[in-house]
Amino acid sequence: MFDLENLVRPNIRAMKPYSSARDEFQGEAQVMLDANENSLGSAGPASFNRYPDPLQRQVKAELAKLKGVEPAQIFLGNGSDEAIDLLVRLTCTPGQDRILILPPTYGMYEVAANLNDVALERLPLTPDFQLSPEVIEGIVASDAKLVFLCSPNNPTGNLLRAADIEQVLRGFRGLVVVDEAYADFAAAPSWTTRLAEFPNLVVLQTFSKAWGLAGLRLGMAFASPEIIGYLNKIKPPYNISEATQQHALAALQDAPRFEAMKQDLLQGRDWLAAQLPTLDIVEEVFPSDANFLLARFRPDATAVYEYLLGKGIVVRNRTTQPGCAGTLRLTVGTPQENEALLAALREYSE
Ligand SMILES: *Cc1c(COP(=O)(O)O)cnc(C)c1O
Repeated sequence: MFDLENLVRPNIRAMKPYSSARDEFQGEAQVMLDANENSLGSAGPASFNRYPDPLQRQVKAELAKLKGVEPAQIFLGNGSDEAIDLLVRLTCTPGQDRILILPPTYGMYEVAANLNDVALERLPLTPDFQLSPEVIEGIVASDAKLVFLCSPNNPTGNLLRAADIEQVLRGFRGLVVVDEAYADFAAAPSWTTRLAEFPNLVVLQTFSKAWGLAGLRLGMAFASPEIIGYLNKIKPPYNISEATQQHALAALQDAPRFEAMKQDLLQGRDWLAAQLPTLDIVEEVFPSDANFLLARFRPDATAVYEYLLGKGIVVRNRTTQPGCAGTLRLTVGTPQENEALLAALREYSE
């Protein structure tokens, strides 16, 4: 059924990866003259004159403990967007292969496909943003190389049903990429706990949301050591900077702050989810397992969007997304920001 060697592009299977100086020699020597670095030091306030560890061993050791996986099951990317791009490039020959997406969903899957000249097959989520039996059948029957399942889904906020994802994992011949960018906010176990059962499973997570490190650009992919090995083979050699690796290590030592912020954001989400339906202009607030809420506005969501903009409040207009007519996506902010949003909406409503 699933055969990784068969799924990987033939040119990638055959190619020899770039071997960097830091691949060939690891560790500290007295005299490091192998990488054309500047031994004198760095301009600016901090030292970054040495190339970083291409495989980010220290960060992965800490992450492995936190996530209950082996370091060999972790890939780190310059944002999970890099992992999305590499997964498409790993499996799809340009102009020939295709990937599957389930709209409405995260926009980068489509961009990665377009950039790589890879065709898109779209199977729509149901009106409550789940997989219908027909769509599951369609995925299983598809010869796409890869399917992206976003759970909790962006922009809708809901988790996909675990039993449906499991059916896809058992039936689909390609890679099943479960994008868990919002997993830290979700009341469900991560699919990283099921990696041993499914050789075709790739789980994406990120430091951009609950960790509060969107500006750092650090994303994670979890999969079998074989899949991770291929991602390492095709990534840019030094894709994670030394500054990012150091900062990630510091963040991982700061778990209490991560927990506290997460709890505060969940409280803010519950408060907004309770308040929004009291407004006449709010038709529906969709259930969310993420740090945002998708809400349907009447009679005109775009007018609400423009009104908020005029008040200096930016939200995401999702009106043109399939199944999302009349909706805005509202990120949960600080308590003050949430109150300002609600006050502006109340003012517009009255
Ligand atoms: C925010 C988000 C990401 C994160 O992307 P990064 O490149 O890690 O910042 C990935 N997937 C989805 C669905 C997202 O909403």
